[in-house]
Amino acid sequence: MSVQVVAAKMAEVELKDINSKSLPAAMPVAQKQEEKSAVKSQPAAPSTSPAVSAAAKVAVAPEDPTLPTPSPNLMKMPQASALKRTEPQHNGGEAFINPDGTVTEAPKTVKKQIQFADQKQEFNKRTTKIGRRSLSRSISQSSTDSYSSAASYTDSSDDETSPRDKQQKNSKGNGDFCIKNIKQADFGRREIEIAEQEMPALMALRKRAQGEKPLAGAKIVGCTHITAQTAVLMETLAALGAQCRWAACNIYSTQNEVAAALAEGGFAVFAWKGESEDDFWWCIDRCVNVEGWQPNMILDDGGDLTHWIYKKYPNMFKKIKGIVEESVTGVHRLYQLSKAGKLCVPAMNVNDSVTKQKFDNLYCCRESILDGLKRTTDVMFGGKQVVVCGYGEVGKGCSAALKAMGSIVYVTEIDPICALQACMDGFRLVKLNEVIRQVDIVITCTGNKNVVVREYLDRMKNGCIVCNMGHSNTEIDVASLRTPELTWERVRSQVDHVIWPDGKRIVLLAEGRLLNLSCSTVPTFVLSITATTQALALIELYNAPEGRYKQDVYLLPKKMDEYVASLHLPTFDAHLTELTDEQAKYLGLNKNGPFKPNYYRY
Ligand code: NAD
Repeated sequence: MSVQVVAAKMAEVELKDINSKSLPAAMPVAQKQEEKSAVKSQPAAPSTSPAVSAAAKVAVAPEDPTLPTPSPNLMKMPQASALKRTEPQHNGGEAFINPDGTVTEAPKTVKKQIQFADQKQEFNKRTTKIGRRSLSRSISQSSTDSYSSAASYTDSSDDETSPRDKQQKNSKGNGDFCIKNIKQADFGRREIEIAEQEMPALMALRKRAQGEKPLAGAKIVGCTHITAQTAVLMETLAALGAQCRWAACNIYSTQNEVAAALAEGGFAVFAWKGESEDDFWWCIDRCVNVEGWQPNMILDDGGDLTHWIYKKYPNMFKKIKGIVEESVTGVHRLYQLSKAGKLCVPAMNVNDSVTKQKFDNLYCCRESILDGLKRTTDVMFGGKQVVVCGYGEVGKGCSAALKAMGSIVYVTEIDPICALQACMDGFRLVKLNEVIRQVDIVITCTGNKNVVVREYLDRMKNGCIVCNMGHSNTEIDVASLRTPELTWERVRSQVDHVIWPDGKRIVLLAEGRLLNLSCSTVPTFVLSITATTQALALIELYNAPEGRYKQDVYLLPKKMDEYVASLHLPTFDAHLTELTDEQAKYLGLNKNGPFKPNYYRY
């Protein structure tokens, strides 16, 4: 996989500091920090093989002099290096989008084949209830994965009328939206206010703007989960000058009361919990197909919106300045378009920002594994024997959480480095077959396929809980359990007992799909990191002068990653140490960052 590092001069943002002392990395106008100098400053390493040195050189290429100049009207961001990647880097694998829309990651050596499934869009044949059909509808996993974290607290399931058949008007007479029930707006507003407390960086951006509008004139069309956290993002974008039209990227995840609060606040939002397949595309279409308004920025989660515009309104791309994409799936699609020479605007890959990866994979999973298990099974963790398959970021988070709760945790790994880490962290490294008979809980976190196969499922003890925190639904061979001799019993939402002829039963959670996305909440603070990164990416792409970004997929510069982190530090009253001039010189760093080379692993 080739990783090309190019230096992009990041824009300097004119927004005013609110507390520059506590946000040292982000505030001052940056001087360009070449990764090269950082590399040079490292203490001399013992000589290594030519292959290893060559790899290091590729990863940290010198600054590219052909790179563009900074845009003037962005946030006060130091200039930094930008990574431009020509291929995706996800868990070491590559992706296929299957004709049914599911995404399969393949080993590195397998050739990539991404294709868009044809989408049906017969708006007049719509269904009002969600059926199995909607489960196989989408080209994206994200649009159908249940996301109960976002579950609406005011679900008016007794109201069967489709929002599309209702008259939609807010208290000011505006009807440019389509939601479940505008009367829930007050309740949704309170939800948004609660989320604001855990999204300090977005709130800081609003304050920092102090009347400046780096997104003035931006017309952003968005397709993400419509939750209280998204509402905080949308209201931040609006505060920075943008006009927004929004649809949901997932048919289940909309918080109806939040959608109502947004509609009441004047946002053109088209989403409700429990959309049908037809509704899903109708909502997206209502966001883009509107008289007198054309988007010039896209914020997508899963790639469905981008795909829709490509397919239905390709001319719109003439005015679109860039795409910001947050999901693994959507990013894969963008790289695929780029490879095929079909990407006609620059795109930012938010998914692979360091802060996003660290928080989503490690810290989020460390919290949500317990939440997901508790909600589905009410299991007591103390003393339970648990095996965690894979000791990457997700596995580390899950193992740490369960160990802290008093569980006895075993780890399986294929990689000796991660295996050694597991040992050093105090976990027993085992092969799955050595412990499969005795464990109470099996958790997969590998990003791989068929880690738990029928043979292991057969050998598990009665009552063993089996779940997946890793990739999609490939890690547990659930299909192998659909045989005549086994009985399936749905005992709760997302909880199945699979019963063997001798009476043994295992407890399968979320049918092997991601446990936390299906059965628990995602902490708002984690979403704050992602939302802030999205906002910065939008600002950067919108303000970048012509030619700075080509029709390719970019990573946010490390400096911006550091900036996102710095905006979250005041929450903890954290006091960051500043380099002295002497220290900065000694390390070969700019005092304002970036503080690490791009290859640094954290
Ligand atoms: P990672 O690459 O850091 O870790 C995966 C680990 O699994 C690696 O160390 C690898 O060596 C190991 N592994 C691979 N095959 C194995 C096997 N057969 N047996 C044992 N170990 C094996 O990746 P990560 O960041 O930990 O993410 C893991 C998966 O979780 C990915 O699919 C990712 O998309 C997903 N993910 C889930 C969430 C969530 O909220 N549930 C969040 C982020 C990522």
